[in-house]
Amino acid sequence: MNTTTNSVSQLPIHDVAVIGGGPGGYTAALYAARSGLDVVVLEKLSAGGQMATTNEIDNYPGFPDGIDGYTLGEQMQKGAERFGAKTILAEVLSAKLDGLVKEIETDTGKVLARTVVLATGASPRPLGLPEEESLRGRGVAYCATCDGMMYRGKTVVVVGGGNTAVADALHLAKICQKVYLVHRRDSLRAPANSVKALTQHGVEILWNRKVTEILHDQLVTGVRLTDTKTGEISDLACDGVFVAAGRIPDTQIFRDEVKTDEAGYLVADETTRTNLPGVYAVGDARTKAVRQIVTATADGACAVHFLEEYLAEQEHHHEQ
Ligand code: NAP
Repeated sequence: MNTTTNSVSQLPIHDVAVIGGGPGGYTAALYAARSGLDVVVLEKLSAGGQMATTNEIDNYPGFPDGIDGYTLGEQMQKGAERFGAKTILAEVLSAKLDGLVKEIETDTGKVLARTVVLATGASPRPLGLPEEESLRGRGVAYCATCDGMMYRGKTVVVVGGGNTAVADALHLAKICQKVYLVHRRDSLRAPANSVKALTQHGVEILWNRKVTEILHDQLVTGVRLTDTKTGEISDLACDGVFVAAGRIPDTQIFRDEVKTDEAGYLVADETTRTNLPGVYAVGDARTKAVRQIVTATADGACAVHFLEEYLAEQEHHHEQ
């Protein structure tokens, strides 16, 4: 389709605006661009989303030796751009998505589109401890791949019991002198062989323990732990705390219009259709059981299938 312009604002009206340049977003952009649609991707930082902060990805097929997330993100971007998708580096501030022409306000101006793919992903969930935020960058970190090198030869604590905590602990075990994994229960959410892998890499797992205080002077000096079974309190000296306590979907700015579940995920099934016509939710920001790169890319392809149907219906109504 050709880009038309809004007669009042003279802004182009794109066929598709994708919000978020992670794997879901750039797959939607690739499929849409290959179908000849005019598509823009709005990305605030760089391609890849959360994936870009992962050192080694071994569960995305096609890369037998693994690939780092930053490179994979760049390649997904290039793949979409080869067919004409455009990337606008901008942060989306608000959006009005219920009309036929969707209006997106960004820090570099307004973007108009007939359809919108919401691909904003999710961000690390803080532990919610006092001073956690003020100690960020002074011993408290949320991304082992990004900040791990600052703790070379030091002692760190990873908090959490999911896939991220396991991956972070294994990554840090290659860099740090000592890694503890602190988990509030007695079993991980990660695959069963994870405990063996962690132990083999020298990670010490402290089960049934919650971090109840971050100890510090100028920098973090340790954590205070409370045993969730006995209530016993103990202090553990460390230089860094890597929080891997799950994620919060980055959907705040859409929640007035787009239906979300109680955790803030955008409600959409495998069709990726949201409650608003012409608005689709893909990747980690969508309600789903398995949040992986492959499921995000699959969502991107599905979104374009259904948005093409929607655009064709609109065209049909217009012609009648
Ligand atoms: P997650 O699976 O939701 O796990 C979060 C962990 O943090 C849980 O173990 C939870 O404990 C713990 N937790 C939550 N709040 C806490 C608090 N206030 N204090 C202490 N602990 C707290 O999150 P994730 O590991 O970030 O993974 C998110 C999604 O991405 C998952 O679907 C995961 O499979 C996927 N992922 C996959 C890979 C991979 O395949 N390699 C890598 C990274 C992420 P409880 O267990 O007690 O609830």
